[in-house]
Amino acid sequence: MDFIHQESILSFKELVQNAARVAVVGHTHPDGDALGATTAMALHLLSIGKKETACLFPDSPGENLQFILSPDVPYLFHDREAEKTEAFLRGADLIILLDANAFNRTEDLEPLLEASAGKKVLMDHHLNPDRDAFDLAFSTPDISSASELLYWVLRTFSDSLPVPIGEALMAGMTTDTNNFANSVYPSTFRMASELMASGVDRDALLQKIYNNYRENRVRLMGYMQNEGLRLLPSGGAYMILTREIQQRFDLREGESEGLVNIPLTIGQVRLSILLKETEDHFRVSIRSKKGTSAQELARRFFHGGGHENASGGKLFIGRDIASAREADGYVENALNTFLK
Ligand code: 5GP
Ligand code: MN
Repeated sequence: MDFIHQESILSFKELVQNAARVAVVGHTHPDGDALGATTAMALHLLSIGKKETACLFPDSPGENLQFILSPDVPYLFHDREAEKTEAFLRGADLIILLDANAFNRTEDLEPLLEASAGKKVLMDHHLNPDRDAFDLAFSTPDISSASELLYWVLRTFSDSLPVPIGEALMAGMTTDTNNFANSVYPSTFRMASELMASGVDRDALLQKIYNNYRENRVRLMGYMQNEGLRLLPSGGAYMILTREIQQRFDLREGESEGLVNIPLTIGQVRLSILLKETEDHFRVSIRSKKGTSAQELARRFFHGGGHENASGGKLFIGRDIASAREADGYVENALNTFLK
């Protein structure tokens, strides 16, 4: 792994050795990669005697991803336990941010993380890492996931990893690659192969990730493809999950995962956008085919970023658009301008 340098490994070891309390931090609306990578990191730290380790998140994960959480790891979710989370962070002398390129991806935790006197380590695979904010950074976009990056870091310590760590990393890599559909490298297959050989049950994992949804999700997917999909001659596609639709289908966090990918299966579609309405903004998910940059669109029109072909951002009601009804027009204009 040419992006994992020996000096970085040594300095990581030293930072860990010198720390008593370690905060392992993930991004807002945690996905499988954030949950898998932080869980694996915490399990590793606990196994080497760092007893004051916890995983911290700005908000709690959706039900369908909670199986990734380990019973052996303490988790603090700021939306559920604000005071405890903040107190833990104030006493942390090492902060490890995984699966995010900057502290601003942790929303409510950002000011505390920035103000912390603790040492800071970044381990991530997004574009434009905020290296200056960290004492040590492991960062490359040429890898499937933060979980894979952590896998190769941990493999420099040992030839084989304990099964619970392997399971968490396999879960993170599998969800971030959409089950080996994108951002897959030769190293990714090597990781999967080694983990299977070491006892990770991939079939059981796939059942938990992909065959364990509630009925409403399947019905919502059908509804959005029938009634909600807008196709533009420019090669853009978009769907808007209004609050009304979310209520009608009793949609919970995580249940629209995967929807934004579906329009890309149409030949002429190059860019797909999904808007999900919240109280004061729309959460924006963007996917593109090779040759079209989802991340540039996210930066230019939606205050966001991410990966070349999978990015996200926000559209603020009252700032970017006057009211929620104007979202259609904003998105169509963004797509048509961008794809011209
Ligand atoms: P998703 O569409 O699955 O929510 O996110 C896709 C990718 O875009 C993820 O890699 C995520 O890190 C990135 N992303 C999502 N939302 C934001 C955002 O608000 N800001 C930035 N910079 N990246 C985001
Ligand atoms: Mn990731």
